[in-house]
Amino acid sequence: MPFEPETTESPDPRPGSARIELPLVTLNRSDVERETMEIDVLIVGGGPAGLACAIRLGGIMQERDEPLSVLLLEKAASFGAHQVSGGVMDMTALEELLPDADPATIPVSTPVTKDGFWYLTESRKLAAPIVPPPFRNEGKRIVSLSRVAAWMSERLEAAGNVDIFAGFAADHLLYDGPRVVGVQTRDQGIDKNGEKKPNYEPGYDLRARVTVICDGVRGNLTKEIVRRLGLEGRNPQSYETGVKEIWRIDPAKHREGTVIHTVGWPLAADEFGGGWIYHLPDSMVSVGHVGGLDAADPLFDPHRKFQRWKTHPVVRELLVGGEMVEYGAKAIPVGGWYAVPTLAVDGAVLCGDSAGLLDSARLKGIHLAMKSGMLAAETVADALAKDDTSAEALRPYDAAVRDSYVGDQLLRVRNVHQAMTLGGRWVGMVRAGMQWLLGGRDWADGLPSEPDPAGYRTLVERYGTTSPPEPDARDFDGTLTFDKLTDVYHSGAAHDEDQPSHLVVLDTDICRTRCTEEYGNPCVEFCPAHVYEWELDDLKLNPSNCVHCKTCDIRDPYGIIFWVPPEGGGGPRHTYT
Ligand code: SF4
Repeated sequence: MPFEPETTESPDPRPGSARIELPLVTLNRSDVERETMEIDVLIVGGGPAGLACAIRLGGIMQERDEPLSVLLLEKAASFGAHQVSGGVMDMTALEELLPDADPATIPVSTPVTKDGFWYLTESRKLAAPIVPPPFRNEGKRIVSLSRVAAWMSERLEAAGNVDIFAGFAADHLLYDGPRVVGVQTRDQGIDKNGEKKPNYEPGYDLRARVTVICDGVRGNLTKEIVRRLGLEGRNPQSYETGVKEIWRIDPAKHREGTVIHTVGWPLAADEFGGGWIYHLPDSMVSVGHVGGLDAADPLFDPHRKFQRWKTHPVVRELLVGGEMVEYGAKAIPVGGWYAVPTLAVDGAVLCGDSAGLLDSARLKGIHLAMKSGMLAAETVADALAKDDTSAEALRPYDAAVRDSYVGDQLLRVRNVHQAMTLGGRWVGMVRAGMQWLLGGRDWADGLPSEPDPAGYRTLVERYGTTSPPEPDARDFDGTLTFDKLTDVYHSGAAHDEDQPSHLVVLDTDICRTRCTEEYGNPCVEFCPAHVYEWELDDLKLNPSNCVHCKTCDIRDPYGIIFWVPPEGGGGPRHTYT
C-alpha cells in the first residue's frame, strides 16, 4: 500500500489563496520512542544566515566567557552542498563577522572589476551606456555560495564551541502551546511504504530554549510557523526561480571579474526577471536566468526560459566551445519589506531567506542573511543571559533587523516588485527608477501584491484552448542547451530511492481533474528537475531528481504540493553554485 503521510487537515484548494488552512505534513513515524536532547540554542540551516549566527554566538561565548550549548543542523550531506546563488556578494556583513579573515582565501571567488547591463531582443543586444545604480557592483565579489558556506563552516569548526551536524534535516517544529521548543529531526531508514528498514533510526526531539530558523527560501518550518502563528507581513511573499549553470569557457573569451545583467528576451513583457553572466576565476562563468513565479502563462518553465536565453547570439558566442560543469536551481524571495513576516516569537526567531530578507532590485541577499544571523545571535545571547526567551525578550531582534542596513536596503526597494507586477516590464522599470530616486516611494506607499499563483491565467484564457502546442523537444541540442535530466545529472542530486516521496501532493484528484483542464498540469513545466511527469493520464513523481529549489511548493496553483525534507543528506551536491 502506498505510504500516506500524516497531515492534520486539508487545505482549501483556491488558486492563489493567501491564507489556506495549512496542515502539518510529516513523513516521520508517530509510533516510536524518540530520544530527546536538551540544548540552549538550536540553529536550523547551514546557509549564510545559520552559519553567521553560529559564528557570532561562538564569538559572544568567548567574549563573555559564558558557555552555551549551541547546535547547528544542516540537511545537506556537507556544508555548502545545497547552496545556490548567482552570486555577487556584498562583503559588508562578512567583514563585520570575520574581520581578520582575508576574503581572497574564499575559494572560487574574485573581486568585481566591470559591470554591464544589457537589454536583449531576440537577436540583438543593447548595452546601457550607464549601468543603473542597483546593478553597480564595485567593491563586491563574485562567489560560489557553496564555497562560501563550506569556508565559513571550516572557520566555525576551528573555533570549536558550536556543535555542527551536516546530513540532518529538521522534519517539523515542536511546540508547547504557541511556544516553539525545538524540532524533531527526520527519521532515517523508512521505505517507500512507510515501513521501517533494517537501518531505521528515529529522528531526535531536539528541545531548545531558542530555535533559530534559517531553513532558507520557502523552508518547511517557516512555511508552517508563519501560517500557524499568523506571522505574515502586510503583503504575501513573492518569489522568482533562478536556474543556473557553471561553464568552463575558452580562456580567450574569459574576462575575470566581469558582471553582466540582462533584461528582456526571452521573457514576455508581462514576465518579471532577467539573466546574468558572472566571470569567476579559472575560465569559469556563472550563467543563469530568473523568472517570476507570478507568471500568467500556466506553462511557464524557468528551465526552458534559461535554455532559450543561452541561444541568444551574445550568450551563445560566449559559451560555444566551452563545457557545462554544474547545474542548480533555487527560488528567491522578492516580496521585499512589506512581505517580511514577524521575526520573533516565543522561543524562536526567523533569519535570512526564510524571512524573505533579499534586496530584489540589486539581487543581493547573502549579506542580509548573514547580518540577520549575527543580530539574532546577539539578541538570543542577551535573552538567555536573562533567562527569558519569550516573544517579548526576542523582539529586539526584529527591531534590530529593521533598524539595521538590512531594513534600510529593503525599505529602499519596498515597492519595486509590486510596480513590476502591476505595470509590466517598461512601466515597471520606469517606476522602479523613479522609486530609486525617491528613496523607495511610489505614487502611494505600501503598494499591495497578490500571492504568486493569483497571477495564473487558465489555458483557455492564455492559449484559447485546453490543448496548447507541446513545447519543442528540439530546444535542447546537448551541447549549448540541455534537457532537465541532463542538467539534474550535473547537479549531483541523489536521494535514497526507497523512501517516501518528499514531494507530497495532498489531493491527486485535483491533478487529474481540475488542474488538467484549467492549467494543463503546470508542475510538469515549472519544476526545473523533471520530478513531475504526466503519464497515462496520471501524475508520476521522480523525487530522486529534486534539486530542492522549492518552486513546486510555491507555484502550484492549488497549494496542494508540499515540499518536506527527504532523509538527511539527500539532494544536490553543489561545489560551484
Ligand atoms: Fe524544485 Fe519541487 Fe522540482 Fe524539487 S520537485 S526540483 S523542489 S520544483
